[in-house]
Amino acid sequence: MTPEERAAKVLAGDIRAIARLMRDIDDGQPGWREVLALLYPHAGRSRIIGLTGSPGVGKSTLTDTLVERFRAQGKTVGVVAVDPTSPFSGGAILGDRIRMQRHATDEGVFIRSLATRGHFGGLTASARGVVTVMEAMGRDVILVETVGVGQDEVEIVRMADTTVIVTVPGLGDDIQAIKAGILEAGDIFVVNKMDREGVGRTVQELNNMLALSGGHEHRAGWEPPVLTTNALDGRGLDELMEALDGHSAVLSADGGKRLQERRREGLRRELLDLIQSGVMERLMERLEQEHGLEPLVERVLSHGEDPYRVSDEVIKQALGE
Ligand code: GDP
Repeated sequence: MTPEERAAKVLAGDIRAIARLMRDIDDGQPGWREVLALLYPHAGRSRIIGLTGSPGVGKSTLTDTLVERFRAQGKTVGVVAVDPTSPFSGGAILGDRIRMQRHATDEGVFIRSLATRGHFGGLTASARGVVTVMEAMGRDVILVETVGVGQDEVEIVRMADTTVIVTVPGLGDDIQAIKAGILEAGDIFVVNKMDREGVGRTVQELNNMLALSGGHEHRAGWEPPVLTTNALDGRGLDELMEALDGHSAVLSADGGKRLQERRREGLRRELLDLIQSGVMERLMERLEQEHGLEPLVERVLSHGEDPYRVSDEVIKQALGE
């Protein structure tokens, strides 16, 4: 099938073609870039919401509840669940099947999990690709759920228009992790499992941290709220929906100025990522063709050359300088 035919099928909502393309993206199979290039002009109209937090804080439960809320408003939803802690993508697919059962008869919900990071560009590129496919499918809302650890996840969080950081009461280390990594990326903070002890203190800690971190440029006009929820019985969900709408309204004000700025920043990062991984990929291919790293190692070890000069020479040659 040509890329044009594949793209047409995706745009027509052919679920098998969509699932196949997403699998190819996640596996790094050749050919997906050509299809994605054709889908890209159809992207950019969905509302992208990121949810991030440690394993077990209730992200998937919360996501499911949000899916129901958006469906009740008649919106179509896509869910991208990114779990790099899952050792096999098979596990992720099994999880999809279980989760899909709740929405099995609902064509308005499409769920896809990603877990592999075995190819250049890795998880961030996969997640971006799958989000683009869901945008091209015309999903109104896309929920991107990630385990909040590591650089990849921070990058994934940054592709969202609104980022929700989820934690639970009494997770001291978790608060530390938020502080260290993604505090400035959070637009809404949620202390889930409000039925547990210590909610007040966790809310207080988060509020203190936010007060200390001060206002950031991208936050102009928006004070990140700290909310409490119970994802199991739905308490606090009205407030979370209100906060999501509130943030969305701020982004759309002034003809969508802030949304454009945010997406522009996201695009900068995406381009940089693509250039970095693309250059690296090609450089490694070239090195392989030219007998790999060993001859270079030899030059340093046996001929007294220094590694700086050797690597510089490789790069200059590759760039045609
Ligand atoms: P994730 O790993 O962050 O996606 O967390 P899950 O959504 O899988 O939830 C982990 C566990 O916490 C599950 O057993 C949920 O049923 C439970 N859970 C989720 N939300 C709440 C909540 O608000 N209160 C309580 N007590 N349990 C919850």
